[in-house]
Amino acid sequence: MQYYGIVVHHSACPSINGKGYDFFIGKDGTIVPASEQTDPLYIHVCLEGDFSRRREAYSAEEKEQLFVLSKLIMKLSATFRFEQDDIFPHTITCPGSSFPWSELVISPEDRYH
Ligand SMILES: [Zn+2]
Repeated sequence: MQYYGIVVHHSACPSINGKGYDFFIGKDGTIVPASEQTDPLYIHVCLEGDFSRRREAYSAEEKEQLFVLSKLIMKLSATFRFEQDDIFPHTITCPGSSFPWSELVISPEDRYH
């Protein structure tokens, strides 16, 4: 099984409704894997909440969710050999144009450059 990449959502997205994702990251930072595969081509990850605000407006919990997301993406990328270009937003409003993509690094080394 080879995926094309990862699609990131937030739960404010109307097309989620509690399903349509492979991993859900709750407000407490818990990762909940879905029992069934969502999409044969992409791995869908959903952050609980609304991440369409600027990063400076994020709460401590939301920043923690971002950290958990970056860890999850790192692990999935190592497993499926994704590149930085293989991480996609769902739509222009999900998770929003100001989403801090640059924080989602694929390789742990890049974090310190
Ligand atoms: Zn979405």
